[in-house]
Amino acid sequence: MEPQVIPERSGTAFKLKKGQTLIVIDPKGEQVADLLAFNADDIDEVISSGRTFDYAERIYLSTGNKLYSNRSNVMLEIVEDMVGRHDFLLTPCSVDTFDHFYPDLPRHRGCFGNLAEALAPYGVTPAQIPTAFNCFMNVPIDGETGELKVLPPISKAGDHIALRAEMDLIIGLTACSAPDSNGGTFKPIHYRIEA
Ligand SMILES: [Zn+2]
Repeated sequence: MEPQVIPERSGTAFKLKKGQTLIVIDPKGEQVADLLAFNADDIDEVISSGRTFDYAERIYLSTGNKLYSNRSNVMLEIVEDMVGRHDFLLTPCSVDTFDHFYPDLPRHRGCFGNLAEALAPYGVTPAQIPTAFNCFMNVPIDGETGELKVLPPISKAGDHIALRAEMDLIIGLTACSAPDSNGGTFKPIHYRIEA
């Protein structure tokens, strides 16, 4: 099956059934994809970084780790990971991100705006958008001070991460729009759904 293409600086949303696997591909390398998940039967149940860190007892997540909802149910399990570095700390980039970090660049609605538009047909409002699981985003942390840095992804062209749905989900997925997260250039993201 040919992969679906998310053009640079855009986003999409789609349903992912329990048992299906979502494969998120970085076709050119060094490109972040923000991923959101909502329970398809009740969009008040949503992916939760806090629950996930608590149960995983770590902030760097990879193969075998489960991504939990705000109700402590498993939404997704990472079943394959060619990169091993993703972020679940930082919120989707937005116009506010551009005002804060890039005041000299043209404003962009960012992943937040792209996710809000893509998820609106499913009844999701902007206020319901939580911290995303940021595939391939490279945010190293100083373990003593907690200081963080946003560095270029370590993903290479063609690398992917695969996540299996543990409930029926609505997924939001972007090709991230923030310069620093993506090594200074904007590339597409590809994805595939496998039974
Ligand atoms: Zn972004």
